[in-house]
Parts: sequence; C-alpha cells; structure tokens
Amino acid sequence: MASYTPPIRDMQFVLHELLGVTDELRTMPPHAEVDADTINAVLEEGGKFAAEVLFPLNISGDEEGCTLDPATHEVRTPKGFKAAYEKYVEGGWPALAGDPAFGGQGLPITVNQCLYEMNNSANQAWTMYPGLTHGAYEALHEHGTDEQKALYLGKLTSGQWTGTMCLTEPHCGTDLGLLRSKAEPQPDGSYRITGAKIFISSGEHDLTDNIVHLVLARLPGAPVGSKGISLFVVPKFLVKPDGSLGERNPVYCTGLEHKMGIHGNATAQINLDGAVGSLVGQPHKGLAAMFVMMNVARLGVGMQSLGLTEVAYQNAAAYAKDRLQMRSLSGPKAPDKPADPIIHHPDVRKMLLTARAFAEGGRALSLYTALLIDRELSHPDEDVRQESADQVALLTPIVKAFLTDNAWLATSHCMQVFGGHGYIKEWGMEQYVRDARINMIYEGTNTIQSLDLLGRKVLGDNGKKLKAFGRVIADFIEEEGTKEAMQEFVNPLADLGDKVTKLTTELGMKGFGNADEVGAAAVDYLRVVGHLVFAYLWARMAKIALEKQDSGDAFYTAKLATARFYFAKLLPETAMLIRTARSGAAPLMAMDEALF
Ligand SMILES: Cc1cc2nc3c(=O)[nH]c(=O)nc-3n(C[C@H](O)[C@H](O)[C@H](O)COP(=O)(O)OP(=O)(O)OC[C@H]3O[C@@H](n4cnc5c(N)ncnc54)[C@H](O)[C@@H]3O)c2cc1C
Repeated sequence: MASYTPPIRDMQFVLHELLGVTDELRTMPPHAEVDADTINAVLEEGGKFAAEVLFPLNISGDEEGCTLDPATHEVRTPKGFKAAYEKYVEGGWPALAGDPAFGGQGLPITVNQCLYEMNNSANQAWTMYPGLTHGAYEALHEHGTDEQKALYLGKLTSGQWTGTMCLTEPHCGTDLGLLRSKAEPQPDGSYRITGAKIFISSGEHDLTDNIVHLVLARLPGAPVGSKGISLFVVPKFLVKPDGSLGERNPVYCTGLEHKMGIHGNATAQINLDGAVGSLVGQPHKGLAAMFVMMNVARLGVGMQSLGLTEVAYQNAAAYAKDRLQMRSLSGPKAPDKPADPIIHHPDVRKMLLTARAFAEGGRALSLYTALLIDRELSHPDEDVRQESADQVALLTPIVKAFLTDNAWLATSHCMQVFGGHGYIKEWGMEQYVRDARINMIYEGTNTIQSLDLLGRKVLGDNGKKLKAFGRVIADFIEEEGTKEAMQEFVNPLADLGDKVTKLTTELGMKGFGNADEVGAAAVDYLRVVGHLVFAYLWARMAKIALEKQDSGDAFYTAKLATARFYFAKLLPETAMLIRTARSGAAPLMAMDEALF
C-alpha cells in the first residue's frame, strides 16, 4: 500500500538554509513580519492535511472517477472529494496567499507553493479543483473591473467558488488564433457567449455551488488570429449585485473525457449556448489577460510533477529496502536472509537517486522561482521587481517543462523499482506514471515551452534575461571557485555555463537564416538550460551540505551524496543534448511529407 510523508525537513532546508527566505521576505513590506516559526507551522499543518485528508482519497478517486448526469449536466466527484474540499475551505487554505483586500491571508507565494507540492503528492486530481481557481483569481485580480473584483474575488479567495480556464476547442489547442467561440454584445453591456470548449479541467463538479469560467471568445468583427481574442468571465450561476446566486447560466457540461490519468478530476466538454458573460480587460486583448493565468498555471503544473516525483520516490525507496531479490554483486549484505534487499543493486540505486535528485532539485528550483515571484510582486524597489520579473519569465517554461519531463522519467523509474508489482494497481505506482503524463501536455505542451524559452525568452531579447541569470551563476563561481572542496561542483557548472553561451550564440545565428533551426533545437536546449539551473542550485546545496557534514545530522550526508550523484550521473546528459541541438534541422526536415 502506498504511503506519503510530507518532506518538511527538505522544505525547511530549501526555504531557510538555501534561500534565506525570512531575510528576503523582511525586505518586502507585505511579508516583513513572516517569520520562520510561522512558515514552519504552516508547513506542518498543511502537511497533515495533505497526508491525512487528501492522500487516502488518491487511489479511490482514481478508481471511481467522475460521473456526469446527462439530464442535469451535473458532475459527481469521487466519494470523499467534497468533504475534503469543505475541510480545505474551513481550514482557510485557499486564502493563504490571497490578497487581504479580498479576504486573503497575504502569505508569500513561496509558502503557498510548499502546500501545493504536498497536496499534489497526496492527490493531484483533487488538487486541480482549487489549483485552477488560483489562475482565475490572478487574471481577475490583474485585469478585472472593480465590479468583477467585488463579485468574484472574495468567493474565489475563500474557496467558496472555484474557477476554470476555457481556452481549448476541438479544432484549436496550441494555436488559440483558430478559436471560434463568439461573444455578442448586449444592450446592457453584458455579452452572450456561444461555442464549444473541450478538455476543461474542473469544468463541472459538486464541490461548490458556483463555478467561475474564464472563457476566450471573439467579438463581432474581431481581427482574425490571436489578435482578435477577448476574455470573458462566465459564471455557472449568474451573480446578483449583492453577491447571491441568480439564474442558471447556459454553460453546460455535455460530456466528460475518458482519460489515462487524473481520473478524479473532471475534464469537461463545455457548451456555451448564449451564456451571459462580462468582458475582462480590453477587447481583443484576451490573450494577454489570459497569460497571467497561464503563467500561474505553468508553475502550478511544475509543482504537480514535483509532488508526484516526491511521492513516487518515497514509496520506491521504502520498497527497495524491503524487497529481497538476488544477492548483491559484491557479496551478501543480509546473510541472515534468503536474498539481499534490492537497494543493494547499483541500478536500483540509480533509479532511486535519479528520482531523489529530481525531487530535491525540483523543490529548490520551484521555491527559488516562487521567491522571485514574491519579489516581483512585493519588493519596494522597482528595479528589483523588474529584474525578478525577467528571471521569472525565463524560468517559467523551465519549471513547467523540465520538472514535468523529469517526473515522467522519475515515476517510471520508481515503478520499475517495484518490478511487476509496480505495473499492477495494488501498490499505486502505475497511477503516478499515468497521472504524471498529462503534465507534459497541458498548459502548452513541453515543445511549446521550449519554443517559448529559446525563441521568445532567450533569442527574442538578445539573450538579456539569460545573461542576467549567467551573472548570478558567475558570482557564485567567483565566490566558491577557489575552494578545493567545491571543485567537483563548480567546475562542471562553469563548463556548462560556457557551453550554453556558445550554443545560444550558434542557434541564434542559425535561426536568422532558417527559423526551423530554432524549432529543431528548442527541446534539447530547454533541457540543457534546465540542467544549468539545476547544477547551480545543486552546487549551492552541496556547499551548505559540505559546511554542515560534520554536524552529525545525516540529512547533510544524504544531501551531499545526492549532489554528487547528480553531477556524476545526470548532468552529463547535457553533452549528448548539446550535440543533438547542434545537429540542426536538416535531418528532421529533409524527408518529404509524403514519405512519412
Ligand atoms: C486532461 C486535460 C486537461 C486539460 N485542461 C485544460 C483546461 O483546463 N483548459 C483548457 O483550455 N485546455 C485544457 N486542456 C487542453 C490542453 O491545454 C491542450 O490539449 C494542449 O494545449 C495541446 O493542444 P491540442 O491537444 O489541441 O494539441 P495540438 O495543438 O493539436 O498539438 C499536437 C502536437 O503538435 C505540436 N505542435 C503544435 N504546434 C506546434 C509548433 N508550432 N511547433 C512544434 N510543435 C507544435 C504539439 O506540441 C503537440 O505535440 C487539457 C487537456 C487535457 C488532455
């Protein structure tokens, strides 16, 4: 049977020892009073909720799935989901990082991300119901009118209502410029929206009495393509000026997708049949408004995969210490038993350490990024806010794609550790693999993230954001590069930094001549830069572990061993990736379409 222990110690390490989070927060007026005790207490309580309330519903939710009543268009979530959601709201968890102006507790995003990781480890499908709400909240918070904010933000903050994002249509996924849903202006200033949306996560459910859909549609006479898309807020039940619920809006769930994983989350087909909505932001500028939501969601998807990597690792490590098969190649390790625990076999260790290095590196990266978001939102110095925003823009596609690709590898390795017992349902491991797979697809496929990174974020601004991150790495190398004990970490980091600079210049030059060169290299490039960021963070973690290895705390011994594993066994993947990135577009584009 699967189990889950919230990784509070490692979260505290990242927050307090790696990032010095309370010193950082002290420079941000809204968070100046947040101290380590408060953070640790929130982590403890949040961890209990994840492990005790959500985790026990993970397998049952997967087995039961969601059910649609075609007569009423209502969806029933798996047994226990509603009660867990009520507890979540009662505990004030949805409001943790919300704006106090709308009833939020105003805690930093960095702390909220820790909770999000734990909830995803415990139950990704359930966590998507409040998870999507967060994006809707951000879009309305940034682009909504005062009236929209007054009607919706309080209830989204408290969790009384949930939110969705309705972009995808049957013929239009990646290319939102193709979307056809229409919005007709009405004399009273509202809009009537008609169209068919598919794949809408948490699009219909029984957890709350209202659902706030954020919908992309076209106004009459809108320019074709992505420049003619507007954003609308369309509630399931219309909301009266006093905030109470009015008539049922004709926005109906007409079907639920049968899918590979996340069975407990309702992936809805949604029909809008003249549904009443109001415009969010400017006409035809819906994509810009939606991007606020998508950026939040992209980081959220990274956290989903981090959560799955962690829980899969924990279970595989426990199993490997228990399962007896074959003798160790270097002689018996448990002579009193008929065979040795499989943890003594080198390749089992390789699989476990891969998952562990991805989990701990992913936690460092996602919290490092979250702290930059807090700076972007709350630092008093405008230059710091802008620098932080640039770094967040650079790191967002990496958090999304690198962590989700890593989780796919990690959950698969962890399943492999169980042998055949991983493939059957009993141990819960195959569910992690199935759940992890969607994270590489939605919120912009990982290919699209790679194009965003290389095309827009790196080449699109002549490498300015990448160079700024390079300076952060260079400062660290300058400080640590002369220390003997740090050579094994600093040297490969510096070497990869140089290689990334050269590769970026080369791809930029090639891209000028032929844009397909960028498309051909982008996925490999993202993985290389993902490793560069990981190597920087792992080197910093190794530095702390080296300093504290004699403290007698085994945590630092394990951290150092995992850092060494990362540099020896995972980072070298970059050599191959750089080679394939440099091999260009010709091997991909030479073959005529008809020959496929
Ligand atoms: C379970 C689930 C939940 C979802 N939740 C939501 C939701 O809540 N809201 C919502 O609006 N949508 C949601 N989606 C939709 C999801 O975001 C899309 O499936 C995704 O963006 C890809 O679009 P598509 O499926 O139409 O694939 P397509 O856009 O048809 O892409 C097919 C393939 O072509 C590749 N491709 C496309 N264009 C390019 C290019 N320029 N260069 C290189 N490769 C390219 C893609 O990477 C992909 O591999 C969900 C989907 C699923 C399965």
